[in-house]
Amino acid sequence: MASTHGQIRPEKDTFLGGENPFESMMARFDIAAQKLKLEPGLYSVLRHPEKQIIVACPLLRDNGQVEVYTGYRVLYNTGRGPAKGGIRYDMGVTLDEVKALAAWMTWKCAVVNLPFGGAKGGILCDPSTMSMPELERLTRRYTSGIIETLGPDSDVPAPDVNTNERMMAWIMDTYSMHKRHTVTAVVTGKPVEMGGSLGRREATGRGCMIVTREALKRLNIRPDGTRVVVQGFGNVGSISAKLMADLGMKIVAVSDKDGGIYDPAGLDLADVMSHVKEHKFLKTYTKADKVSNAELLTLDTDVLVPAALENVITEENAGRIKAKIICEGANGPTTAGADHILQEKGILVIPDILANAGGVTVSYFEWVQDRGGYFWDEETVNQRLERIMVESFAEVASMAARHSVSMRIAAYMVAIDRVAKVHRLRGMYA
Ligand code: GLU
Repeated sequence: MASTHGQIRPEKDTFLGGENPFESMMARFDIAAQKLKLEPGLYSVLRHPEKQIIVACPLLRDNGQVEVYTGYRVLYNTGRGPAKGGIRYDMGVTLDEVKALAAWMTWKCAVVNLPFGGAKGGILCDPSTMSMPELERLTRRYTSGIIETLGPDSDVPAPDVNTNERMMAWIMDTYSMHKRHTVTAVVTGKPVEMGGSLGRREATGRGCMIVTREALKRLNIRPDGTRVVVQGFGNVGSISAKLMADLGMKIVAVSDKDGGIYDPAGLDLADVMSHVKEHKFLKTYTKADKVSNAELLTLDTDVLVPAALENVITEENAGRIKAKIICEGANGPTTAGADHILQEKGILVIPDILANAGGVTVSYFEWVQDRGGYFWDEETVNQRLERIMVESFAEVASMAARHSVSMRIAAYMVAIDRVAKVHRLRGMYA
């Protein structure tokens, strides 16, 4: 156990099943790069993050004490455009995790063909122990610590685990105060009143719903009554569940960090959502059976949506998964070692860099709207998102068929190919 700021936390390895997220990302990268016959020089370039920043963030607690938190921002690759990616506040944040997440953002933006590179940031902290004023001070101090890289043309953050619109507003304000004028396009996922986009909050879940619908079509399964299990009931999990239920799918289990609820006849999702709105957590919900997060993954279901954290589907439990489709709402929910087990079982895995790309796609729309100063209605946002997700799913599926590889390796191949092409065209400034 390690102690940070007086709080005990499990070591990263026990916490996440022992897989280093950066190596997990690289394992897939290597397979895709080999299939693409990527030249050795470019292979080396794409294996290295462009820039890694570590900042100490002193925080004045409400009780007058000062504590110092560590913040990270990694710009993985900016070949295709400004670095793009969220910022998370979590006790699991490490440099290796942020590097992996920044690489995943690079591939994610490329899979859906956005003119962005990839980045990620994080602060190692437990935000649930902080007051709003403390969170504001920490957010502003972190923003000023990484301010040199930030900017609409260089590095554009967004929400991620435990961060939301409110923090994006503080980031935008801090940056704008330093610049001496308002710069809305420096961050996405902002409140709509200050340059946010309609549909952004729902976008990741909407994207998950769209690609799951496309996967069902390929397997000739009708959505009506198709069973869904969702791990994680935050922004991504809850909206995915709601939109899949709107398609007629049956949500049989959902969970949050303390465990889940299960009803094989289907949960009353509206009731569950209003319970969470009022009580914050699922554990006090009594109208369904209780299920642990580990049990939830192996429940009898057609679709499984891991929408919480990394490394939950592992070599240990992959063999027991019953779902026909896995839609990876979270980043990195499956370890590299579990990939081949799922593939042997014939499970259609819609990989994270495609499945959860709806969020960054609408972030891109937000950035475009901010820069143009002209805002779209929600229908336009959703139609454009729908088109990008459907086309990207088809592109990845056809790459998978052409090369007889999984959807995951195909998604990496589509992405790496696009990033590599830009590097070849730009040439090497060596
Ligand atoms: N944090 C989200 C992700 O992992 C969104 C990133 C963004 O919109 O820039 O995709």
